[in-house]
Amino acid sequence: MRKPSYVIIHHTAQHSTDETLKTFTLPRTQVSAHYVIGKDGVVYQMLSDYLRAWHAGNSRWGNQLDMNSASIGIELDNDGYHYFDSLQINSLLVVLEKLKRTYNIPTANFIGHGDIAPTRKNDPNWRFPWKLLADKGFGLWYDSIRVAVPETFNHIDGLRIVGFDVKDTSAAIVAFKRHFLQDTTKGMTPLGREVLYNLHRKYY
Ligand SMILES: [Zn+2]
Repeated sequence: MRKPSYVIIHHTAQHSTDETLKTFTLPRTQVSAHYVIGKDGVVYQMLSDYLRAWHAGNSRWGNQLDMNSASIGIELDNDGYHYFDSLQINSLLVVLEKLKRTYNIPTANFIGHGDIAPTRKNDPNWRFPWKLLADKGFGLWYDSIRVAVPETFNHIDGLRIVGFDVKDTSAAIVAFKRHFLQDTTKGMTPLGREVLYNLHRKYY
């Protein structure tokens, strides 16, 4: 048992909520998350928030190497190739509000599975509305008006300051662009540097 200080958002990569509920209740799968939210907005709580669940796997955010011990896992029914229904997002926002208030979870600590496991995972998929969440106080976002990036700005350092594991730098860049630019292409771009420069200063 522990008090959670992060919330990790996933898509299930399965075909239905029923399939996921079954997967998470079979001991042999060795996987579960605290919440499953259906496309219809129905919320299933699978285990107590105070218990450690197996949803993050090998992952890292900042200096936190054991994300399962620090986080709540929320799985959204989505096969990875579709937009997220508003009923589902509205239910998610209700759950996040309760978790943030109950456990005093910092605004910056609402992140995705793909953020903490950039070489292995891409969930929630690029269609996930991170900006909407940030507008409600779940996760940080960049300003619409941004200063020019100093030439000396090292974007790998910027990614590390935000929290990304930069052991595989190209994977970290892909994860950053998916989350903050809804862009699935590889490689850092001038826009990416500008957004990251603005964003990383919010993490100091
Ligand atoms: Zn996941």
